[in-house]
Amino acid sequence: MQTIANERHLYWFRNDLRLNDNRGLVAHAGADRLLLVYIWPQNRPWCNITGMGAQRERFLMESLAALKATLRKLGQDLLVLHRSPELVIPELVRDYAIDRVGTTVAPGYYERRALEGVRRRLQIPVQVYESATLFTREDLPFEPADMPASFTPFRKAVEGRRYLDPVARPDTLPKPPAVEFHTLPANHTAPHTALPVRGGSLPGSRRLRQFVAEDKSIVSYQQTRNCLDGLAGSSTLSPWLANGCLSVREVATAIHRFEQQEVRNESTYWLYFELLWREFFHWRAIADDVNLFRQGSRENTLHHCTFEPRAFARWCAGDTDAPLVNAIMRQLVATGWASNRGRQIAASYLVNELELDWRYGAAFFEKHLIDYDVASNYGNWQYIAGVGADPRGGRHFNLEKQAREHDPEGVFTAKWQGHQPPQPKFVTDAADWPLS
Ligand SMILES: Cc1cc2nc3c(=O)[nH]c(=O)nc-3n(C[C@H](O)[C@H](O)[C@H](O)COP(=O)(O)OP(=O)(O)OC[C@H]3O[C@@H](n4cnc5c(N)ncnc54)[C@H](O)[C@@H]3O)c2cc1C
Repeated sequence: MQTIANERHLYWFRNDLRLNDNRGLVAHAGADRLLLVYIWPQNRPWCNITGMGAQRERFLMESLAALKATLRKLGQDLLVLHRSPELVIPELVRDYAIDRVGTTVAPGYYERRALEGVRRRLQIPVQVYESATLFTREDLPFEPADMPASFTPFRKAVEGRRYLDPVARPDTLPKPPAVEFHTLPANHTAPHTALPVRGGSLPGSRRLRQFVAEDKSIVSYQQTRNCLDGLAGSSTLSPWLANGCLSVREVATAIHRFEQQEVRNESTYWLYFELLWREFFHWRAIADDVNLFRQGSRENTLHHCTFEPRAFARWCAGDTDAPLVNAIMRQLVATGWASNRGRQIAASYLVNELELDWRYGAAFFEKHLIDYDVASNYGNWQYIAGVGADPRGGRHFNLEKQAREHDPEGVFTAKWQGHQPPQPKFVTDAADWPLS
């Protein structure tokens, strides 16, 4: 994009909390003044769940603090606000005489609606960049409306295609207009010792380097990726990818560089393959629009389910009759993360054993995951529930088999205190009975 030297720009960070490979930010680095803004995710009450879990909030706060500190070294700063974008951005544009706004694509329905709302209220250009995905819309060999319904045709269509090379971080940035930048409130939550990961680009890049180049764990990823513990088997890059502290193009480039310089095997391929799943869910979320949140999804298939509040509460608390599920749920709440295998097992239990509406499970994950990503979360939940991209119509995991294969000694279940005394599925308090 051409920038005009005397212009004042506003760049709205969303899921791109980084300087490295941030084409949107770079495009505005030639302005005369640049106001950098982040708007805290909207608290949308949904499935009786509100707010953000302590670990998710911590990771996001750390990511913002790290971005702010890096920007300050370049004479810039970050304004973090808590109101709705449709109100805040037009106010800032007016108050600071902004000429142009830039931001990045976010795949969720509500996030896209917010952007449309901002656009409608502004009479100046709003430039939207594609920095959360490997491919841009132009790179895709089909129109968004023809987006494949399942993963394999999507993978076959995009695999081997070139994606944009990561761009260098800007060395300098224009000064901000005369804004009062607040300090971020202190966050007193520490990472859990079982997953000592911190938000920000630096810890994310370190983890990428460690997993790929230093420990070379990527070489055996295919054999270890189903491990239930964080940092042990899979890359655990998702928290940085979801918040945009790391760019997916940087991760893909690191994989391909490793393949050229060191080893190329099924495992190195498989890590890239998983990035394509992330990509698939992103583009699917855009195509599915509000259907991503509908119980029957885009086909509007009616699936019988129930809402039994006590069963849901027990699932959330890791207090069900299934020790492995309990352990996964306790790990999720304590650390803000669970492995892919763990998420699948817990989701399958909610859908198939408890017969609950999958969206309640998804909303609980949304609250707690430090790697919460609207497209991956709701897309994977739909997949398990059989209303999404699974051509087999949903997944029902056999708990005994899963425990035998992934926690044969019961070490993981014991570590997270999964064994709870069995309880009846339904309880009725004496006070509920009608008195004659
Ligand atoms: C019910 C459910 C909910 C989920 N919610 C989220 C979510 O909110 N955010 C999120 O990033 N992932 C989500 N996933 C996908 C997956 O579980 C996580 O991406 C993965 O466990 C993160 O760990 P990792 O970084 O070690 O993954 P790795 O196995 O090392 O994979 C590397 C990267 O590939 C991507 N990836 C891997 N598997 C998937 C997948 N199935 N779908 C989409 N992307 C994938 C992630 O970006 C991940 O960081 C969910 C999966 C399920 C079953």
